[in-house]
Amino acid sequence: MTALNAAVREIADEMASRPDRGEVADYIPELARADPGAFGIAVIGPEGIAAAGDADAPFSIQSVSKVFTLTLALGLAGDRLWNRVGREPSGNPFNSIVQLERERGVPRNPFINAGAIAVTDVILSGHQPREALGEILRFLQFIAEDETIYIDDAVAKSERRTGFRNAALANYMKSFGVLENPVDFTLGVYFHHCAIAMSCRQLAMAGRYLAHSGRNPTTGFNVVSPERARRINALMLTCGHYDGSGEFAYRVGLPGKSGVGGGILAIAPGKASIAVWSPGLDANGNSHLGRIALEMLAKRMGWSIFGAD
Ligand code: GLU
Repeated sequence: MTALNAAVREIADEMASRPDRGEVADYIPELARADPGAFGIAVIGPEGIAAAGDADAPFSIQSVSKVFTLTLALGLAGDRLWNRVGREPSGNPFNSIVQLERERGVPRNPFINAGAIAVTDVILSGHQPREALGEILRFLQFIAEDETIYIDDAVAKSERRTGFRNAALANYMKSFGVLENPVDFTLGVYFHHCAIAMSCRQLAMAGRYLAHSGRNPTTGFNVVSPERARRINALMLTCGHYDGSGEFAYRVGLPGKSGVGGGILAIAPGKASIAVWSPGLDANGNSHLGRIALEMLAKRMGWSIFGAD
């Protein structure tokens, strides 16, 4: 067994026995039903994949999808994207509206809800919502090399039914001309890409290009340029965990993006693409055990971008 396999196995065992599990998101019934006892981990490192626990159980990726929509929007708009969304950590909760007022409807970064909605609007321009959504889903299936990845329609419907705050953010941005498309269309695509279901194994596969300078290390296919991969990682490090981004960098030391479904995609540049999932969240809306597991893994493997112990 490799050192990575042993680490992953031990971390999964420890996570299964911990009593502190955080609180499952309850703003929609589909997420509230998640089992707080679940924990999965998949790591694609230099020697292949190491996975343990519920690594093959699909979960709602929610805001982790924002990494992939950012990748697609940068491909479409290039640096013009930065006219519509900033690159600074927000210091506000993920669904905060106050900052939009100060900055004339331009969201602080692509990973808070307002920013992700603006990014989705860029992908939608020139397409019907169904086409834009198809692009996003096919991109994920392509980079994960798995055509079974799907959108959970029940989650998407619940998101739309309860998404008053997101509708407020979108309308507010629209009033400043930051969104180009009908607000309902943009929100529809946004809610559906948040509702994509993936397992840890699929998510770790999808993240490989970020660990390898924009390249799929198996096929050699360039998904994005090395510069773009580096910059997406920088944004994940500074903005990927809502209001807990500083704490995540301090404890784990890896670029990462979390979602309220309890998933986290973390990248050890040049080394590994890592996905963890445990639905219980901490006070900032990040997976409680997911963060602890990543902290243990980064420490054991010496993967923190800030240096090994
Ligand atoms: N669909 C969720 C929302 O927009 C995503 C939340 C998240 O994962 O941060 O409220």
